[in-house]
Amino acid sequence: MEEKTSTANYEFKAEVKQLLDILVHSLYTHKEIFLRELVSNASDALDRLRFEVSRGTAVLDDTLPLDIHVDFDPDKLLVTVTDTGIGLTKDEMVENIGTIAKSGSAEFLKQISADKGAIDNIIGKFGVGFYSVFIVAKEVVIKSKSYKEDEPAVEWRSDGLGTYQLSQPEEGLKRGTQIEIHLRDEAKEFADKHRLESIIKRHSNFISFPILIGGEQVNTVAALWREPKFSIKEEQYNEFYKFLTFDSEPPLATLHSSVDAPVQFNSLLFIPKLNYNSLGLTSERPGLDLYVRRVLIQHGNRDLIPEYLGFVRGVVDSEDLPLNISRETLQENRLLAKVSSTLTKQVLSHLQKTAKDEPDKYTEFWKQHGKMFKLGYSDFSNRDKFVELLRFNSSKCATAEDLVSLDEYIARAKPEQKEIHYLYGQSRAAIALNPHMEIFQAKDIEVLYLFDPLDEFAMESIRAYKDFELKPVEHADIKALEKYASAVTKDAPAPLSPEDEKQFNRFLERVKDILGARIKDVTVSARLSESPCCLSSPAGEMTSSMQKIIQIVSKDASVPQKVFELNKDHKIVRNLLSIYKADPHDEYLTTAIEQLFESSMLLDGYLQDPHALVGRIQNLLNKSSDWYLAVKDIH
Ligand code: ADP
Repeated sequence: MEEKTSTANYEFKAEVKQLLDILVHSLYTHKEIFLRELVSNASDALDRLRFEVSRGTAVLDDTLPLDIHVDFDPDKLLVTVTDTGIGLTKDEMVENIGTIAKSGSAEFLKQISADKGAIDNIIGKFGVGFYSVFIVAKEVVIKSKSYKEDEPAVEWRSDGLGTYQLSQPEEGLKRGTQIEIHLRDEAKEFADKHRLESIIKRHSNFISFPILIGGEQVNTVAALWREPKFSIKEEQYNEFYKFLTFDSEPPLATLHSSVDAPVQFNSLLFIPKLNYNSLGLTSERPGLDLYVRRVLIQHGNRDLIPEYLGFVRGVVDSEDLPLNISRETLQENRLLAKVSSTLTKQVLSHLQKTAKDEPDKYTEFWKQHGKMFKLGYSDFSNRDKFVELLRFNSSKCATAEDLVSLDEYIARAKPEQKEIHYLYGQSRAAIALNPHMEIFQAKDIEVLYLFDPLDEFAMESIRAYKDFELKPVEHADIKALEKYASAVTKDAPAPLSPEDEKQFNRFLERVKDILGARIKDVTVSARLSESPCCLSSPAGEMTSSMQKIIQIVSKDASVPQKVFELNKDHKIVRNLLSIYKADPHDEYLTTAIEQLFESSMLLDGYLQDPHALVGRIQNLLNKSSDWYLAVKDIH
């Protein structure tokens, strides 16, 4: 009775209620994950205690062994998870259990309502793992005593339906947290030794503290990354990977190493098969777990691996870092930077080897992680290795799925070719229709296709590879290309007479007059064979696609001045020359030039208002349909 008076009632925060509602009212095939979540919380609490001890903090009950007990009573339908970790004060209880502190909760709720089956894969990733206990429990009681000397013990109790109660538990509680799970009838299977044991072996085998059931240890407490390589089987690595990532697939690659200089450390890294970021499961890159002499210092440290290798998961354990290092100063630690640069080299070498020995596997890697990997263009210290690992689709590929490396490009390059050419476009079809491709098609010179606008930034920044300069096709050295034999023979029209040559120069002047300040210059194109005209910008200026990105970023809507190139051999251009000769101010000539210019602007994405262009086309159709009727003799 007395206990009742000191009991206070609290309401769960709205988002917790919402989460609990989903958890309690849905049917999960993997109810057992509740135990994984509770054991992992217990392990975190122990890690944090060990961290405090290692930095010299005074803790309550400092002789208690660091372990986790799982007990059960089939008669009472009860399972209990007890740890000797850091414990919770009353305030922490209210703060951490009862609210969802992390910002991921809204995202979690969204994903869960979209796909309830995904819950066991993602619940642990959103910092809401504790609540999964209500999948199996009709009531939960938490008794906890903080490691802080003067904090009283606290008891939390809830049926998960909207409120919880806080009170003072019985005297004599030792440091740590005990969670009583009063099972629902339909979850009574969990009050069973074999069941509990197999769940722990499956999900929590690598917890670095002993887990005991009825006093017997059931997990393998071994820091796998510190074991000698030869003693570890692939299944153990895979099991550890699953434990670490909750991934249901085995990893694409496992890298286990022990390094002595310039810093001593052991690392166990994995490259996941699938890119979970692209699935939107996590917005932040996961980072690596950092241990110092087996003591977990930080989950998901993002300074240990550069952003472009952010898909890598795993652990790093160093003897050289001080144990009492604070998380805040980690970032400035020089040793960490050395670990990171060693790991970067390891991962790049591994990828190089994969690309060489198992090209299919490398392709698989590229398709999943290539987008992130491409950000590595800013890693100057590993530039060559990085560039060698890049892959592109190109004009020599049969489909959009195929990939080539720059080395393959170089091996196929023409004698004396000095440039590697690339072109951005939204698809293979769009690029194939780009007038800038014509000379490359005619001379059978390979062009790399970039489908991501940001790839052009990467190319600009890389600039050169081996003896080749990386050049957008718009800036290609056309003179150098002209000397190669044409791959396709085309009947070129007869050259212009000397008189017509002169007229042509005047015609160009007239075109310049018509287009005025909208263009920088009008020139005779050397790159076109099929199209009558195109826009270009001189080398040293930005390509159209690049300019576009910059304009979007800087919210600049101005239209840049470009060079308007005309194909002297094209029928339309020849016809316009004839019209010009008859009357330089002919109205049709002006319309046609306007139309050609705006079409080029449209192709390059600069045409802001299509009204004039469409109006002109309709006008031309109007007239040409009359001519057509006349020619066909239709009445
Ligand atoms: P997460 O563990 O991902 O933060 P949970 O919902 O599982 O999310 O737990 C919420 C918080 O409750 C934890 O961050 C921790 O502060 C606290 N907590 C849970 N279990 C324990 C425990 N056994 N000992 C100490 N604190 C705990």
